[in-house]
Amino acid sequence: MVGLSDSHGLMEALAQHRPDLLLLDVQMPGPSGFDLCRILRSTPEWQELPVLLITAHLGLEFRLAAFQAGADDYLSKPVLREELRARVQARLERSRLSRERAERDALTGLLLRRPFIDGLRARLAESQRQGRPLALCFLDVDHFKKVNDQYGHLAGDRVLTRLGRLLGARFRREDVRGRWGGEEFVVALLGETAASAKEILSRTAAELSGMTFEGDAGETFRITFSAGIAVSPADGDSVEVLLKTADARLYRAKANGRNRIET
Ligand code: GH3
Ligand code: MG
Ligand code: MG
Repeated sequence: MVGLSDSHGLMEALAQHRPDLLLLDVQMPGPSGFDLCRILRSTPEWQELPVLLITAHLGLEFRLAAFQAGADDYLSKPVLREELRARVQARLERSRLSRERAERDALTGLLLRRPFIDGLRARLAESQRQGRPLALCFLDVDHFKKVNDQYGHLAGDRVLTRLGRLLGARFRREDVRGRWGGEEFVVALLGETAASAKEILSRTAAELSGMTFEGDAGETFRITFSAGIAVSPADGDSVEVLLKTADARLYRAKANGRNRIET
């Protein structure tokens, strides 16, 4: 927790400490809490920051002004410790949930590309600190265009949802899993070599090929995927090189007949 005795330097303090929530006293030397709140709401970077306004006034006028300025909640003085804690916790929980939702793909529940790359970057740094390998896997559903064409777009969506759930349910908690886009998925496995990652992914491939999917007209079908794996440090030590290498190997898996994993 960081406190400021007046509003000067607020923007600098926000940039420096990147808080999860801001408690703003309306009556401060300098611009009022209302003014500051309005400024934050018109600054893209802080539009989503939870803001609780605090005032000595209880009146309707104040309460309306607080919400008009863009505050999420308000408290009146004297501030009761228990109430403050409860309101702050409720706001933090809401904002954590909405941030998490914004990072995830609705169809599969996996991370979107940008948050995946952030997670991959963090895992890679961790693996380098610990001197352990990290395997990056690029997966692509085989002949997915045909699935859509033959069985319908909704059936295609169901394939993506189930594959996403499968990827979400298998592996370990710390493994990062994302939907790269379309029918392409990415998985980062900490501590795995090319051989062990291939074995792990082969189990996923076997599980997927045992699943039956239903087309929009009730027909049944099965699917497979192809994958490319790149490993740090053997193939490189940057996120960019790993992504490029895994993608090139995925391309090779497709060229070599699909339903296979290349390392
Ligand atoms: P390959 O084996 O070479 O990967 O062939 P493919 O048909 O899977 O590859 P291609 O990249 O040509 O086709 C991908 C298709 O995925 C095209 C696009 O319409 C479809 N697609 C992308 N996103 C979605 C989605 O969210 N839902 C559905 N149902 N289809 C999607
Ligand atoms: Mg593709
Ligand atoms: Mg494909």
